[in-house]
Amino acid sequence: MGQTVTLIPGDGIGPEVSEAMRRVVDATGVGIEWEVQEAGAAVVEEYGTPLPEHVLESIRRNKVGIKGPITTPIGKGFRSVNVAIRKALDLYANVRPAKTIPGVSSRYEDVDLVIVRENTEGMYAGIEHDVIPGEAAEAVRIITRHATDRVVRFAFEYARANGRKLVTAVHKANIMKLTDGLFLRRAEAVATEYPDIAFNDRIVDNMCMQLVQRPHEYDVLVLPNLFGDIVSDLCSGLVGGLGVTPGANIGAEIAVFEPVHGSAPKYTGQNKVNPTATIRSGALMLRFLGYIDAADRVERAVSEVIAAGDAVTYDLKPTRDDPTAVGTLEMADAIIAAL
Ligand code: NAD
Repeated sequence: MGQTVTLIPGDGIGPEVSEAMRRVVDATGVGIEWEVQEAGAAVVEEYGTPLPEHVLESIRRNKVGIKGPITTPIGKGFRSVNVAIRKALDLYANVRPAKTIPGVSSRYEDVDLVIVRENTEGMYAGIEHDVIPGEAAEAVRIITRHATDRVVRFAFEYARANGRKLVTAVHKANIMKLTDGLFLRRAEAVATEYPDIAFNDRIVDNMCMQLVQRPHEYDVLVLPNLFGDIVSDLCSGLVGGLGVTPGANIGAEIAVFEPVHGSAPKYTGQNKVNPTATIRSGALMLRFLGYIDAADRVERAVSEVIAAGDAVTYDLKPTRDDPTAVGTLEMADAIIAAL
């Protein structure tokens, strides 16, 4: 019997990219048993919540999940299911590798960054209230020593395990002296435990400019929650866009994999978007589960199909309306053929 994994297809483009990922992972022959669970707006009527307890229970039982994106109503409605999963399961490190894929056109060659985003607190603590409705509102940003230490330690352990040389802590400690000040001081303290890995820090606005101008000077970045979210999309943009960048939410015992991108509602049901980010998230999952050979094969097959440039979706073609672009599932089929 293979490993059982909770699969949350998500909504918007989620079900399409999840199906593509599932086909590719199945084609590796490792024999994953998929336990499919639904979450998001579609289940609210039936369960009274977009994240029913049995979905979390399934992930807790299997210890590993993979999900498509789930739509969050903007400026109203229920809170993000994606954030709720990370918090409920204490998946404290969000790891988002941004690495150039040959054949994907982008500003630079050989970008190889890993963004480690704190995933449980910061601006995503969810503490917001109206002071005067319609006039003034407040949010509380939480930074703790506990959450900072473990995510920074994760970044260093990741660096060590993956032959990386530098960890950069990214913050706004010049302005937010208490919260980001604590983040920076703890990052500096944890860094002393890792004399074999270089450490520096950058203020987030300067970091964004430097990443756009000199991404090769950086390696592993560790950031509080909101900065990590923004900077990881920026880094996706450096290596070809949201269609290609995978992600992993890692806790002490549980991990949930997902693409960096969202549910891109305007493309729902069109078999149009790029499945690469979710398929590569599947490869991260295979690696996490110890199926190293299968993970390597998926990565290689994805790279081969992209480098060949024929069976790829619209976003990887020279122009967005290229008539030779293929659909989501056709690209997955090409990757399976390359496996
Ligand atoms: P988005 O990532 O869904 O889409 C932004 C744009 O990126 C799209 O319009 C499209 O041009 C491009 N894009 C995204 N995925 C792509 C793919 N696979 N292939 C090709 N192009 C792709 O971001 P958004 O529009 O800001 O958010 C839409 C919804 O997704 C919101 O409800 C948001 O809350 C949610 N969201 C969910 C997650 C998650 O599930 N973890 C993450 C981000 C956003």
